[in-house]
Amino acid sequence: MSSGHPRSLHAASAIIGGRPVAGVRFTTDASGRISSIEHGVRPAEGELSLGTVVPGMGNAHSHAFHRLLRGRTHAEGGDFWQWRTAMYAAAASLDPERYYAVARAVFGEMLVCGWTAVGEFHYVHHRQDGRPYAEAHAMESAVASAARDVGIRLTLLDTAYLAGGLGAPLLAEQLAFGDGSAERWLERWHSLRDHLAATAGEGDRVTLGAALHSVRAVPRDAMATILAGLPADIPLHVHLSEQPQENADTLAATGLTPTGVLAELGALTPRISLVHATHLTDADVALIGSSRATVVMCPTTEADLGDGIGPARRLADAGARIAVGSDQNAVIDPFLELRGLEAGERLASGQRGRFDPAELLAAGSAAGYTSLGLGAHTLALGQPLDLVEVSTISVRTLGGDPAQIALTATAADVERVIVAGELVASSGALASSAAAGRPEHLLADALAGLSSSRSGSAVEPAQGAHP
Ligand SMILES: [Zn+2]
Repeated sequence: MSSGHPRSLHAASAIIGGRPVAGVRFTTDASGRISSIEHGVRPAEGELSLGTVVPGMGNAHSHAFHRLLRGRTHAEGGDFWQWRTAMYAAAASLDPERYYAVARAVFGEMLVCGWTAVGEFHYVHHRQDGRPYAEAHAMESAVASAARDVGIRLTLLDTAYLAGGLGAPLLAEQLAFGDGSAERWLERWHSLRDHLAATAGEGDRVTLGAALHSVRAVPRDAMATILAGLPADIPLHVHLSEQPQENADTLAATGLTPTGVLAELGALTPRISLVHATHLTDADVALIGSSRATVVMCPTTEADLGDGIGPARRLADAGARIAVGSDQNAVIDPFLELRGLEAGERLASGQRGRFDPAELLAAGSAAGYTSLGLGAHTLALGQPLDLVEVSTISVRTLGGDPAQIALTATAADVERVIVAGELVASSGALASSAAAGRPEHLLADALAGLSSSRSGSAVEPAQGAHP
């Protein structure tokens, strides 16, 4: 936005700690962090004046390019393996220019829907045959530029993906994901960190994190090398026990569950985020809980792919932090993820109120930000001023208690979105000068570019490897 971030803005009501607080003025410093908060005040003349706001939502798990599969994988049985075949074909269609176009559209969609930060679990690093692009970090730069241009906060989770399964080399359709060895992945990661720092402008919103794709795609000794070679304070994510097959394969190869493998490596610490954690033993739940790790549930994806319902409440009771993510981006709606989290618990347990409305909002906002290495996010002093304005007078929300808005609103109720004190989206349109307009137009452009250049090189499904 041309006028820069406002020095202050006013919300008629802000949901803070799960409770509505009336008449709140937030003032920001030059970095967009909250420097003062007043309660019970009226908007000043000319001040940006919002209605009901909730803390901005942190999307702790995304693969932006999976958005290309939305509405295209349900015919003729539409099982997991068919989905995976389509996913590899989508990955094969990417180059830096197209990846930028898709990511910009998808990040734009996230922003207008209320996700103010995203963790992109990024593994399409190289050309389809595994050769690096001539320009160093071309694909990573494409993702970072897409986020910078729309104004969303990005934690780029650069992913190590070294094997096609336990003891198996990468498949032909996975070559773009691989770096050959843990040492070479680490070398690229450290170089990428320097590169991102060199290209960051003032108030940059891109953070570099890391990911191990899964215990199936990164051998144990390689995981140990990577854990030893990464700084201790960066966020680290890993897919965990999404499908029962991963547990069976890991047990057969190591005698341990995937959680047990991570525990043995010393990887279970508060900085790690475990994505899905759907099929766990009681011992796994205890290990994860006592480590104070974050578990990222992806309810709309887990339902779409038929993964199962993870033990979110049991994990939370054991000590884990629960966050949510949009994962395959077949649905981009923070409220539907939160509702799906609670709905899964209710369906599996036969009980209501497994996560109360305040806990759901905290899972969407504070836990997501913590998972992404962005610090605390509870609308307190010193924290980022990231807000989502939600209509309380729509057909969905009218008459509801605003404290329960996580169980009534959808992304269609998101009005204005604020990141670092700056207006970045309004009524479904992006406000950034680098990517103004509606995300559906950006997406139409991205899809048109892809369909005109499709090679039709669909790959055969290979059983046993993980997306
Ligand atoms: Zn994933």
